[in-house]
Amino acid sequence: MGNGSHTHTHDSWQRQLAEAIRAPQELLDRLQLPAESAAVPAAAAVQGFPTLVPHSFLERMERGNRNDPLLLQILPVNAEARQVSGFTTDPVGDSSARAAAGMLQKYHGRALLIATRTCAVHCRYCFRREYPFHDEPRRLSDWEPALQKIREDKSITEIILSGGDPLILSDERLRTLCSRIDDVDHVQRLRIHTRLPIVLPARVTAELLALLKGLRSQPIVVVHANHGNEIAADCETALRTVVREGIPVLNQAVLLRHVNDSAEALELLCRRLIGVGVMPYYLHQLDRVQGAAHFEVTDTRARELMNEIRNRLPGYAVPQLVRETPGESSKTPLH
Ligand SMILES: *Cc1c(COP(=O)(O)O)cnc(C)c1O
Ligand code: SF4
Repeated sequence: MGNGSHTHTHDSWQRQLAEAIRAPQELLDRLQLPAESAAVPAAAAVQGFPTLVPHSFLERMERGNRNDPLLLQILPVNAEARQVSGFTTDPVGDSSARAAAGMLQKYHGRALLIATRTCAVHCRYCFRREYPFHDEPRRLSDWEPALQKIREDKSITEIILSGGDPLILSDERLRTLCSRIDDVDHVQRLRIHTRLPIVLPARVTAELLALLKGLRSQPIVVVHANHGNEIAADCETALRTVVREGIPVLNQAVLLRHVNDSAEALELLCRRLIGVGVMPYYLHQLDRVQGAAHFEVTDTRARELMNEIRNRLPGYAVPQLVRETPGESSKTPLH
């Protein structure tokens, strides 16, 4: 891997997923870090959302650095078990936005489908770490009520596949779901919210690109990287490949304490992104999900950081600082 050649076999991303690291101790061992009590996933809160990290992502971490910004995103720590007031299981009001099984509708013209519960990585700050996925569709027929809603509502011009991570689905399942959506004439854009091109770049196969390019509606890929070090090696190649196929690629990041809460880190992230043709889209203030309080950055600091990077970057490379507030008609800009 890492040389950009497309020699991997059709199922290699699935094999890499099966081989992903699932034990914090193995993670620490491979990074040549000492065992530590803070990383022992003792609490139930941590056990319900276990360690998961593909080797490709691990390869981009620095050996011997306990504060590596990629490691901090995925290493379970006991601080997750702390109850902090204001941090809840449904911080963005997903439960009241459920329009059908697997379908959330909050904003005009767009509907979001929870295409799967599964991800290739478990980000410790994930706002859906407590989402009740067990209620959502699994088989294709389970999607029928959501598809029916989409067919009936001509104001819906964009469908967002989210999750979980929709690119966890096999090409076959993804193709079937996408083509059902594509069959609805008033749907103009199909957006895919995914972290796989970042954490498991082998998922970006010729077959996947052909599938997206074969749609009638305009595909848009929105990836999720938080630190410039993520945009390296096989990830860099995969992103370039998508962009050069003519598919728009945007990035959303989450502002995370000790991960990217410096002007240097944010500048590096934005530069690496535009260097491969990926446009910075949103910088999200943390959703206040239970277990993630130790990642929070204040709004004052967030605004300061935005002013600093605005002075250092071309205008198109500066993401919008936003927060998701339940009941609002869009993500809320924080400037
Ligand atoms: C964030 C979100 C969207 C997308 O919002 P954009 O501002 O268009 O990126 C759509 N639907 C739901 C339910 C969302 O949470
Ligand atoms: S990839 Fe996205 S949905 Fe999955 S754990 Fe990370 S933040 Fe959550």
